[in-house]
Amino acid sequence: MTKEIIKTDVLVVGAGDSGMMAAAAAREAGAKVILIEKENKIGLMRLSNAAINSNAQKRAGVSINKAELVEYLASFAQHNVDQKLLNIWADNSSETVNWVEDNILKPNGAHMRSEPDAMVTSPIYHGFPTENDSTIDDKSYVSYGAWFQEWIINHNIDLRFNTKLVKLIKEKNTVTGAIVETNNESYQITATKGVILCTGGYSANKELLKKWNPEALKKNVYNDSPRNNGSGITAALKVGALRDQEPAECIFDRGLVPIGTKTDEMFYQTETYENWLWIGSYPFLKVNLRGQRFANESVPYQFISNAAAKEPGYLYAMIWDSNYADQLEKFHMLGCAKFGFPGYMPSKQAFINDTNQYLKKGLIVKADTIAELAKKLHLPEEALVKTVKKQNQNYIDHIDHEFGKEFYRMSPINQKPYYGCILGGRILGTLDGLRVNEKMEVLDTNYNPINHLFTAGNDSGGFFWGSYPDRVPGLASSHAQTFGRLAGKYAAKN
Ligand SMILES: Cc1cc2nc3c(=O)[nH]c(=O)nc-3n(C[C@H](O)[C@H](O)[C@H](O)COP(=O)(O)OP(=O)(O)OC[C@H]3O[C@@H](n4cnc5c(N)ncnc54)[C@H](O)[C@@H]3O)c2cc1C
Repeated sequence: MTKEIIKTDVLVVGAGDSGMMAAAAAREAGAKVILIEKENKIGLMRLSNAAINSNAQKRAGVSINKAELVEYLASFAQHNVDQKLLNIWADNSSETVNWVEDNILKPNGAHMRSEPDAMVTSPIYHGFPTENDSTIDDKSYVSYGAWFQEWIINHNIDLRFNTKLVKLIKEKNTVTGAIVETNNESYQITATKGVILCTGGYSANKELLKKWNPEALKKNVYNDSPRNNGSGITAALKVGALRDQEPAECIFDRGLVPIGTKTDEMFYQTETYENWLWIGSYPFLKVNLRGQRFANESVPYQFISNAAAKEPGYLYAMIWDSNYADQLEKFHMLGCAKFGFPGYMPSKQAFINDTNQYLKKGLIVKADTIAELAKKLHLPEEALVKTVKKQNQNYIDHIDHEFGKEFYRMSPINQKPYYGCILGGRILGTLDGLRVNEKMEVLDTNYNPINHLFTAGNDSGGFFWGSYPDRVPGLASSHAQTFGRLAGKYAAKN
């Protein structure tokens, strides 16, 4: 039963990357704001954010060509995106990162550090130095969610935890508010200027994945965003919104799978990253469940999961030897796989410790022969022995005769004991969402805006298609924060 009606100018739904920014921007523009969050704490504000020529990048002498980057992103998506939105992101990303630095980080003794290392250009994939990391000492990350929450409270934004969106209220073609629920009691919030949906996509909702992105259930055995159940998108669809017709998602290729488990037996949802193997994203030998190599391992994280989804059983094994830790640095990985990842994986020893804990847990196995290793991994022995022999010959020849992996990313398997594990994807978020115009207004099925309904972050679409371009480090979070900020500004203007 709906009990009371509360009035505000702007209602923001979801206190994560996009919602926190939307609320802050609407408040700065003079609006009265309510921010509701269904959990009892805000979502994690991501620590790496992309920008084009932010203040941190200028200080570091990093310069990015906007036109080149926008065309790269459009091409990566085969132009199945709205290039106008890519331009809007490009034009506003640095203002957003600078705002966080000036208003949230600096008052607390922190700043943004530009990560120039992504500038590597391989013959196959281009990398861009877009990443800005929140830090105090330039060596590790600092999280800033608590400081952001303080800003929200100090600026009189009404932040309500344990409060979830139930449905939107639409009168004629205008969204006038929402029914929300706290502790099983529902009430109405009337928003005179707009409602901004920032609930983070639908990766936690298996039924919606089955309907809108069935391949994701082949590729992923973990979901690292268990809060995001699609409620923003489904609420908007009920008031006539238009959504992307094709899926997009962001996947990390480092989910350890208990040996013998089948993909369809597992979709483990975690916010604490259990069984996350850092070297899983490294280009060691990867084979399908028949013990055969199936793709170049030196590709963006998601591509190996895409390729594995076309193989029997969808999972794959990674095989490496005792010298593996000496190979890590020369692979020169980017973004979240980087050797020396600030604060988390600063050294070779950190990678060894990470790997050893899963050996103890039985998620990684070791053996003195490849045949024995194959047995422990439930892989055909003869096939794996043959594949490893071929891989070692490739290394001697300095040429990957099968899939063209660059030599600096190749490694031999000749020092026992040998190691292996079964890997599957971890979905970080769905990236297809509600169609929006340049003001972040949600479109209806005639491509006209639904008045006073806005969205940002993973609830919003038109920006990604298919796989996530991880060689533009920090793009997902920056897309959420930048478009959240714009949605807040535009809603406050109504
Ligand atoms: C492990 C991991 C690492 C990542 N690392 C990076 C990175 O380094 N750089 C990068 O660019 N991207 C990264 N990403 C992706 C990035 O975090 C997301 O793309 C981004 O946070 C999406 O922002 P959002 O606002 O759409 O969703 P979220 O930040 O998830 O916020 C959505 C919020 O809405 C709330 N909510 C949901 N439903 C309701 C409801 N009905 N009512 C009220 N509240 C609701 C949720 O509880 C949540 O707090 C990572 C993701 C994961 C999982």
